[in-house]
Amino acid sequence: MLEIDSSKVKGEPGTGYEAPDGKGPFECANCRYFSAGASTCRQSTMTRVSKQPREKDGRVQVDPHGCCEYVERKGSAREDAFRAAAEARDTGGGA
Ligand code: SF4
Repeated sequence: MLEIDSSKVKGEPGTGYEAPDGKGPFECANCRYFSAGASTCRQSTMTRVSKQPREKDGRVQVDPHGCCEYVERKGSAREDAFRAAAEARDTGGGA
């Protein structure tokens, strides 16, 4: 089982937000809480705890290539199902 060494976790205390170093599928730009127009985050802990700059409506300004502990990939269940089906096809497995 994978264990996280909390002493090695970087980023903002309380949210883990850090920006940007290319986290691919786990970037803000691929997260359901991200708004591309103003490059902001509406995730509840981020809006409550983060010390990043804010919009007037309380949304937190984030880098599209950043990430935090609360990332939720857009369409992840569908993407994961598609990927698993493709892998099963490629390896001759699956139903
Ligand atoms: S990854 Fe975190 S900071 Fe970025 S949009 Fe999602 S919840 Fe907000």
